[in-house]
Amino acid sequence: LALSSSASLAGKSEWKKGDPVPYSALTDCFEEIDKTTKRTLISSLLTTFLLKVALNPGKDGGDLLRVVYLCINRLCPDYMGIELGIGESLIIKAVAQCTGRSVQQIKSELRTVGDLGLVAQQSRGKQKTLFKTAPLTVPFVFKCLTDIAKATGNASQAKKVGIIQKLLTPCTGSETKFIVRSLEGKLRIGLAEKTLVTALAHAIVLKEVGSKKLPEGKLAEKLAKGAEAVKAVYSELPNYDLIVPALLKGGIGGLKEACKLTPGVPLKPMLAKPTKAIGEVLDRFEGKEFTCEYKYDGERAQIHMLEDGQIVVFSRNSENMSAKYPDLVESIPRCVSENVKTFVIDAEAVAYDIKEQKLLPFQQLTTRKRKDVRTEDITVRVHIFAFDLLYLNGESLLHKQLVERRQLLQESFHPVQGEFGFAKSSDGSSSEQIAEFLDESIKDGCEGLMVKRLTSDDSTYEPSRRSINWLKLKKDYLAGVGDSCDLVVVGGYYGKGKRTNTYGAFLLACYDADAEQFQTACKIGTGFSDQMLVELYNLLSPLELASGKRSDVQADMSKPPDVWFEPKVVFEVLTADLTLSPIYMAAQGLVDERGISLRFPRFIKIRDDKDADDATTSEQIAEFYEAQALASKGNRGGGGND
Ligand code: ATP
Repeated sequence: LALSSSASLAGKSEWKKGDPVPYSALTDCFEEIDKTTKRTLISSLLTTFLLKVALNPGKDGGDLLRVVYLCINRLCPDYMGIELGIGESLIIKAVAQCTGRSVQQIKSELRTVGDLGLVAQQSRGKQKTLFKTAPLTVPFVFKCLTDIAKATGNASQAKKVGIIQKLLTPCTGSETKFIVRSLEGKLRIGLAEKTLVTALAHAIVLKEVGSKKLPEGKLAEKLAKGAEAVKAVYSELPNYDLIVPALLKGGIGGLKEACKLTPGVPLKPMLAKPTKAIGEVLDRFEGKEFTCEYKYDGERAQIHMLEDGQIVVFSRNSENMSAKYPDLVESIPRCVSENVKTFVIDAEAVAYDIKEQKLLPFQQLTTRKRKDVRTEDITVRVHIFAFDLLYLNGESLLHKQLVERRQLLQESFHPVQGEFGFAKSSDGSSSEQIAEFLDESIKDGCEGLMVKRLTSDDSTYEPSRRSINWLKLKKDYLAGVGDSCDLVVVGGYYGKGKRTNTYGAFLLACYDADAEQFQTACKIGTGFSDQMLVELYNLLSPLELASGKRSDVQADMSKPPDVWFEPKVVFEVLTADLTLSPIYMAAQGLVDERGISLRFPRFIKIRDDKDADDATTSEQIAEFYEAQALASKGNRGGGGND
């Protein structure tokens, strides 16, 4: 890591020992980061700043944690459900009130500037300040943002506007812009979370090294090892509330002991790579041992049993779903063997017809209420199919081979008719055996198969990784791209004919996590029933942006959609194939100067278990495109179910 001279710019603001970190010190760092797209420079700018904060973490020692959260626009771990991201109109109202301008003026400027943060900053710049207020500090900003996010009830709108005013009044320079962007839920400076994790680790290493003179090679090694250690711990325990204080207390060396997988803290699930043919699966696993499991068509459920016996169910997105599944919370203890005290299992919750004893399609599951479900009102029953055991009786099993985890899973739980079972599996590895098992899975109402490495170090559980050691083989997609895409709705086109009261088509985008940008991938207007379009109108119209296109959406502006949306809703879509496009921007620069677009996209469903930044990434689109190009050259089996 080169702590370049420009990096030291990020540390130009000073504050006295024990004083709270000035908010302007953080926004100066954001400004520097915003000027570059170079990942290494962003990382070193942030490292320099975090090191300063780590050495002087404020009055109560908590400012490093607050700074970490402010860098990624969060206030607490995801699963606690306290989120920033306030509607544009409320922020406009607050900006108008505290800059003495009209809502109309702000809106019209917004249409030309396209960034409410900048408009707010410019509006503040035009104001004469009559008296000086105390400068903003990191703890004050963090507290105000938390209060806003927690405000509920009838009077909450007025309360939020009041707090925003308290925040905006003392702002100087770019502070206004970043407060507004934080309120909107995105900083848009290209600071990805993985860069933050690396910078945090580097800052702690540099703090430990202090003024010691280490040979350059040795320092580089320490930094790399530190980053690996923090990343590994974060993937098991994605909770900065625990990790940051542990780093400040015991450094990198003490982290592993202090922060371990803990029931109650959901870990990011392991993900699979798509494949297009059985031949491709066999190629990829090249004679190594693997197992095929049914790929159930339901909702992922990570189920935890805490030390006090409490059962908590988390979604794919680490959302606490226990209130949606009181029936599971109640039934799971019946399926647990006596010697089991604590566990974390990875499973699929599938809608189930108890009378006919058969699986029901995913759509049935979506008819269940999401909140405050009472067991006696439940009409759609859910069956759990467990496929992995990640933690048992105080021990993390992530590093064990799948074959061992599976055995422990089967020893620790017992199937209960209509409620709980293990994912059906077959270890047969010939092409014919896989084809037969695939057909059987479809007949039983599944989407296809998950094919997983069974033994060796390649079969450990890799949290948050889309791993080549898990392959998905979906029957429907064998002839197409290999998988569906999950794309964010960024724009809408008004309908024609009898659809004039709704949108008739949508502009969809994939996500480039490194640049924190949405890149358009296609326009979609097929696959929607009229009723669906009405529902989509109700869902999307509150997300219409008065400002027009957001600056983090990359799109061809020669034919803009009628309206732009806040990127929030995710559609799962199927495509005939992918093609290079002069109009769409997905994966631009990854395989070609042009972007990639989906041809003849068809709507499948809304993915309400995915956030906008869980959408299919630019890299995935590029991978799909390259796999398709390879298949069409005939290098791979492609297409068929061979
Ligand atoms: P991705 O991010 O990979 O697109 P996704 O949520 O869109 O994930 P799929 O592409 O359908 O899901 O494939 C993976 C999902 O399949 C898992 O997240 C899980 O919910 C589901 N699943 C069903 N059966 C299994 C199984 N036996 N093993 C692992 N996952 C399974």
